[in-house]
Amino acid sequence: MEHTEFRVKAKEMVDYIADYLENIRDRRVYPSVQPGYLHKLLPKEAPQTPEQWDDIFKDVDEHIMPGLVHWQSPHMHAYFPALTSYPSIMGEMLSSALNVLCFTWASSPAGTELETIAMNWLGKLLGLPDCFLNEKNDSPGGGVIQTTASEATLVSLLAARTRALMELSKLNPEVQSAELLGHLICYCSDQAHSSVEKAGLIGLVRMRYIESDEHQSMRGEQLEKAITSDKEKGLVPFWVCATLGTTGSVAFDNLREIGAVCEKHGAWLHVDAAYAGSAFTCPEYRHWLDGVEMADSFAFNPSKWLMVNFDCTAMWVKDSTALHRTFNVNPIYLRHENSGKAIDYMHWQIPLSRRFRALKLWFVLRNYGVSGIQKHIREGVRLAQKFEALVLADQRFEIPQPRNLGMVAFRMKGDNALTERLLKRLNARGYIHAVPACFKGIYVIRFTVTSSRTTNQDILDDWNEIKTVAKEILMDVFGSENGNIVVPKKPRISLKETRELNATFGTSLLLANSPMSPKIVNGTHAAICDYEQVLTSCAQTFAQLKMEPKDSPGATEAPML
Ligand SMILES: *Cc1c(COP(=O)(O)O)cnc(C)c1O
Repeated sequence: MEHTEFRVKAKEMVDYIADYLENIRDRRVYPSVQPGYLHKLLPKEAPQTPEQWDDIFKDVDEHIMPGLVHWQSPHMHAYFPALTSYPSIMGEMLSSALNVLCFTWASSPAGTELETIAMNWLGKLLGLPDCFLNEKNDSPGGGVIQTTASEATLVSLLAARTRALMELSKLNPEVQSAELLGHLICYCSDQAHSSVEKAGLIGLVRMRYIESDEHQSMRGEQLEKAITSDKEKGLVPFWVCATLGTTGSVAFDNLREIGAVCEKHGAWLHVDAAYAGSAFTCPEYRHWLDGVEMADSFAFNPSKWLMVNFDCTAMWVKDSTALHRTFNVNPIYLRHENSGKAIDYMHWQIPLSRRFRALKLWFVLRNYGVSGIQKHIREGVRLAQKFEALVLADQRFEIPQPRNLGMVAFRMKGDNALTERLLKRLNARGYIHAVPACFKGIYVIRFTVTSSRTTNQDILDDWNEIKTVAKEILMDVFGSENGNIVVPKKPRISLKETRELNATFGTSLLLANSPMSPKIVNGTHAAICDYEQVLTSCAQTFAQLKMEPKDSPGATEAPML
């Protein structure tokens, strides 16, 4: 493609993008394609000779678009938001064209400095304490943009691991690091995201899951008990991950209590606020941040709710030397004359190269302003409240956990199978898209308000769609559109019982996503959408997929150091 063609086609692309986003409501949010559909439509090999742009793009409309989930749609309620916005897209366009790699200050000075500035702005916007900012040349703290929350968690765990191993080596100079590693143990709640478990697997450290309380919140007392008992076994607690806004139910761990326990035992405290972090731009939600000054690292995803398109994870640390000690390899060719005076973000992350992501973040912060961002967050919460009110007003439905922020987890009263069937049928119809979660044996549909385009009418339309399908299901099962409204007993189920129950539990736990929940072994597609099942009875929906209940690795005794 020559520049003359680029000027024409790229402008057409901008129109295509604007048309797509402005008319997205008209598209079916969930595609009706089966696995492998695209293989049948596209050639097996790349073309030998250059192809015309118009021919290439024709395939986008005909073959690619029909196979997408439209994440920007107001009828998208699955997972968490993954929003974009016009200033963010402009940032991506420009940074794609510049394609500068900002691994050292010298590799692109403005890229590095804009990242520091934008992260200071964002940190202040969230009300983070000054210790996380980098406003002076010698500040130990500061912010960095990572690719994902998973990576921020891993970076934090690895930095804490290095710190712990260095301290242990001082006390035990004759013992090898590999042996010391076997003594380390870290903690998160049974509601933590699966990426926390993954960080422990990669970091080769034991992880203990702390049972959350009746509000799905990790509390200081339970953590203290676990740490004390592990220390008695000769283990060394070194890292704790607290979650603000869990994936299953947007529950909040008690940061102040957990922070105090971490300080007492010298453990690094990481805060994973991937979704909820955006809400802290509004002062009325900052009570959940109480105690954050005790954290060593904090991360959230502006790529979720803050309209900065993926990828963009904002991470702050109190002491960046812990990252340097972990990631600094410093070969001579990467040193520059300002080494040490300026930030070299390559030492704050796992890869060497990094994109100029600060541009889109900076564009969004400037173009929306604090007031525009707060308005967006508050509108998302208001729409979720509206949906919550509709659900609560209908006696066939219930909300087992109180709603927080922009997510409502609801279910049909009665057997889990009813709600599971409702969800699968909704997804198969494709007008709205949602995924399930499981709270201590109770199956729920997570309904997240995602789009910045969502209106009151969209919420009413979605609720009508849900009611229509629920009515069909109740007619099928009970022969009455009100079902048999007998409120089932819901005793609190312990972690142990959950594990036992899970072995025979339904098949749709795709987004249970917490370490203690069974993972779908085979067929995540089937777990959320089942076209054949739309027509058959709900008894058959169960027990078709193999489940693998995941256990907490028992923290076995380790010899005293
Ligand atoms: C979404 C989410 C993650 C994972 O985010 P990635 O950026 O995809 O790694 C981690 N933790 C929580 C609490 C989340 O909601």
